[in-house]
Amino acid sequence: MYVKGVGPARAEMLQAKGLSTVEDLLAYAPFRYEDRSNVKTIEELAPGEMATVIAEVRTTRASAFHRRALGLFEATFRDSSRAILLGKWFHGSYLANVLAPGMRVALYGKVEFDSFTGELSMLHPEFEILADDEEGDASLHTGRVTPIYEAAGKVNTRLFRVLMHRVLEGIPPLDDPLPRAVRERLKLPDRWSALRQLHFPPADADLRLLNGFRSQAQIRMIFEEFFWLECGLTLKRSKARLAAGIAFELNDRVRERIKAMLPFKPTAAQKRVLGEIARDMAAPHPMNRLLQGDVGSGKTLVAAEAAIIAVENGCQAAVLAPTEILASQHYYYFRNLFQKLGYVVALLVGSQSQREKTQLKKLVAAGLVQVAVGTHALLEEDVEFQRLGLAIIDEQHRFVVMQRLHMIEKGTQPDVLVMTATPIPRTLALTLYGDLDVSVIDELPPGRRPIKTKHVTEERIEQVWSSLKREVDAGRQAYVVYPVIEESETQAMKAAEKMYLHLKDIVFPGCRVGLLHGRLSSEDKEAAMESFKRGETQILVSTTVIEVGVDVPNATVMVVEQAERFGLSQLHQLRGRVGRGAEQSYCVLVTGKLNDAGRERIRTMVDSNDGFYIAEMDLKLRGPGEFFGTKQSGLPALRIGNILRDQELLELARHEAEAFLAHPAGDEELRRAVTYLRTNWQRRYGLVTVG
Ligand code: ADP
Ligand code: MG
Repeated sequence: MYVKGVGPARAEMLQAKGLSTVEDLLAYAPFRYEDRSNVKTIEELAPGEMATVIAEVRTTRASAFHRRALGLFEATFRDSSRAILLGKWFHGSYLANVLAPGMRVALYGKVEFDSFTGELSMLHPEFEILADDEEGDASLHTGRVTPIYEAAGKVNTRLFRVLMHRVLEGIPPLDDPLPRAVRERLKLPDRWSALRQLHFPPADADLRLLNGFRSQAQIRMIFEEFFWLECGLTLKRSKARLAAGIAFELNDRVRERIKAMLPFKPTAAQKRVLGEIARDMAAPHPMNRLLQGDVGSGKTLVAAEAAIIAVENGCQAAVLAPTEILASQHYYYFRNLFQKLGYVVALLVGSQSQREKTQLKKLVAAGLVQVAVGTHALLEEDVEFQRLGLAIIDEQHRFVVMQRLHMIEKGTQPDVLVMTATPIPRTLALTLYGDLDVSVIDELPPGRRPIKTKHVTEERIEQVWSSLKREVDAGRQAYVVYPVIEESETQAMKAAEKMYLHLKDIVFPGCRVGLLHGRLSSEDKEAAMESFKRGETQILVSTTVIEVGVDVPNATVMVVEQAERFGLSQLHQLRGRVGRGAEQSYCVLVTGKLNDAGRERIRTMVDSNDGFYIAEMDLKLRGPGEFFGTKQSGLPALRIGNILRDQELLELARHEAEAFLAHPAGDEELRRAVTYLRTNWQRRYGLVTVG
């Protein structure tokens, strides 16, 4: 549809925000509202009230203020009542290029009495320049509860208001795609009224509800977005369940073999989760399951059990890790476990020689390797499995989804088990991994003592070293970790190297200190890790390469330098490297001076050992974008819904979506929903296989 005022240039700016259709535009919700219903003339203003005036700029003045150059910007305004209002902005020097005498503006703010000049004034008022062209009816912008939009290029909040108004006035009401029964039961307004109220709230609208995204119109739009998202995920999941996969047999022999492998009695949670996995594997459809559990909860052991089911059915298992160090960790762990069973476990990583790789690939292709462990090298084109039955993917966060798919295409629809060491609150897991079934290990192996966590500032580091020394003298081992800052790994490495020399020569001259960082060759990395595992190295200085998966039960001390630089979930991962044996373990977070936010983060770590709680805090403190990293996390780009703020609506929508798809009012309604989903939502959520 053609919208007056949107030429090619503006269309492009809108498109950059993902707004290419009228529907997209209408779904672009204001992020804030202002009550500008109280429009007065300057003469009518009283100090203390919030008000809107429409006036003309008379004079402007930028000045250095008192002693400090605060860049005070002042302007005077006059309106039809001939009275004068003073506007003041600190750090406002940029306004000299924005406001000029003669301009007509709408000002909104708190009226004050300026004792210095004896005039009425507003400090930092919101304002909008009332341009002469296409400003629409002035009543769109003032004299009402006014929507504020995030600008898209040069399409500013005013222009958005005008466009929204034009569209809402210019087109016939849109159909409501939400199933009627759902809408009526939840007493949600219909879509068209919701959209109108979203952009132009009624005069009696409650500003607090609006700005909390809890007006009826907003709730309706948020629910709708989540409803379709959940419908899409549910359909995708049920479709995957229908695809043909391998039905593994679970007989006594398999059970015997698992028993023979197990070095410990599994916890109740491990048993339950294995049951869920085994049921999936026995079904003639591909498994797509996410295995969640706090660090040290014993996910790897469960994965090993699953691998046995595959191997005993004449299939191969692949284990994918994000880094070489982790891959080799897994390799040793699995080789150790499977020795008794006579399985051949192979490691395939990028840094191996071409000859070595070629040799290994041959063995894998011939089916002579039962369990292949590796990094993305395993995903390379020319690795052929004889019969891949199970793919275990560690640390899903670090994998590009494409790689995952690529991998899966190698076998005939193998079962997929994704392990994540970053616990995610359940509702979020269900949404982010909505196409996966979720299993949670919510129990630690017995005999673990909670890790004691302490916060120490840099100047008291000597105390840290002396307690570390006591532990080492008692036969235990310790990690000292430095953060890697992405853009300067070299610098972090240097810091680690320097600290390594300092600790080795000056602080702990009698101890065996090792060094591990990302720039070492893979042999050196492995050698450093192995020496620590065997207990030869007592203190391992490392950059964050040990973040996940390292398993040395005798290590009881984790010192994290510059802990303020780490995310909470990352700190929790690091801390999870200790506390793996029966001895009391310690984690020391060393920081510089902290601001309030930093203190709160560190306090969260000191107070809690619960990975799910920490993940939730991390999410709250950093926001979902940063928490999940880049787009590869698969986090859907939501328009109005916010998975943190709207968790309850998300839960409700999931429930409703599942119920609706299980019992639609009729075939016609279901078809309508699927069609709507396909044409409107597939593109955005990548629900490519819907329907
Ligand atoms: P995760 O991968 O969940 O972080 P791991 O599988 O690495 O945890 O297990 C952590 C440690 O606990 C390992 O040393 C592992 O051998 C041990 N472990 C796992 N399951 C049990 C159990 N049921 N009883 C005792 N120790 C266990
Ligand atoms: Mg592990």
